[in-house]
Amino acid sequence: MNRKKLKRRRRIIRNRIILFAVIAALILLIVVMAVRAISQSENDRQTQNAIRSQTEYQGNIRSVVNDNIPNFTDDEKTDKTYVRFGKTDSKGRCTKAEARISYETVTKAERAGDKRKDIIPSGWRSGSGLQKGQLISWPLTGETSEVGNRVAVTKALEEAKNSYEKKISDYLRDHAGNHVIVRVTADFQGSNQLASGIHMEAMSVEDEGKGISFNLYFHNVQPGKKIVYSTGAVTNEDQVKEKKKEYVVDSNTNKFHKEDCPEVSGSSAKTVTATRSELIKQGYSPCGECEP
Ligand SMILES: [Zn+2]
Repeated sequence: MNRKKLKRRRRIIRNRIILFAVIAALILLIVVMAVRAISQSENDRQTQNAIRSQTEYQGNIRSVVNDNIPNFTDDEKTDKTYVRFGKTDSKGRCTKAEARISYETVTKAERAGDKRKDIIPSGWRSGSGLQKGQLISWPLTGETSEVGNRVAVTKALEEAKNSYEKKISDYLRDHAGNHVIVRVTADFQGSNQLASGIHMEAMSVEDEGKGISFNLYFHNVQPGKKIVYSTGAVTNEDQVKEKKKEYVVDSNTNKFHKEDCPEVSGSSAKTVTATRSELIKQGYSPCGECEP
């Protein structure tokens, strides 16, 4: 073998080693990234489960999370201002909105006014009575054409959340120069189109939470309404509850009674199967004695 051939062979071997090293490094990088993504989503899932276990709906639109102490890292507690909206997921659902806001942010939003673009959030349908809400409302951020911030909510949730957002803007007006960090996370269960609730944390930075500090979960419910979270369908609770029953109607008195009412007598009384509202629609009124 001459020198030239030997040199060429060495070069080929060296190139192969480099190629192998690059491929190995790439594979390692992909594995590390995958593991980190899995552990991050596992963290998110555990956090969400922990929040859900603390916030079972018991008739109050608002539940307190973690003794009302928000969970911000030291990195987040700076005086930079920003507004960030998470990407919508594969089902078109919003995920998270984060902002660090100041007096300037709030007054700028106020001056610009409500110029919200008509963006339809997942789970919203016309006539349902749900609001086309925002994870963080425009009076705090001035953002009116964002997509990842839109969420369908009940009027009750909107009102409850707005009262806390107002606390934040009032605080910033009274403490120009201070900042408030806000994080709002939508809680979609399974593949539901409508969020079960909204998790909201906020903290004033400069006074370390003396002015503003809360960690709350707002339930996406509306008194008197039954909500199907998989689709966003909303019905009146009494319509759902009302079942057909046996009543006694009296065509002489135009009253209807429970079957065992002592007032029922005579040939004009007959038993029918109907709902209460059906009978009222037919012109009968409920008997004052048996209160059917
Ligand atoms: Zn009666």
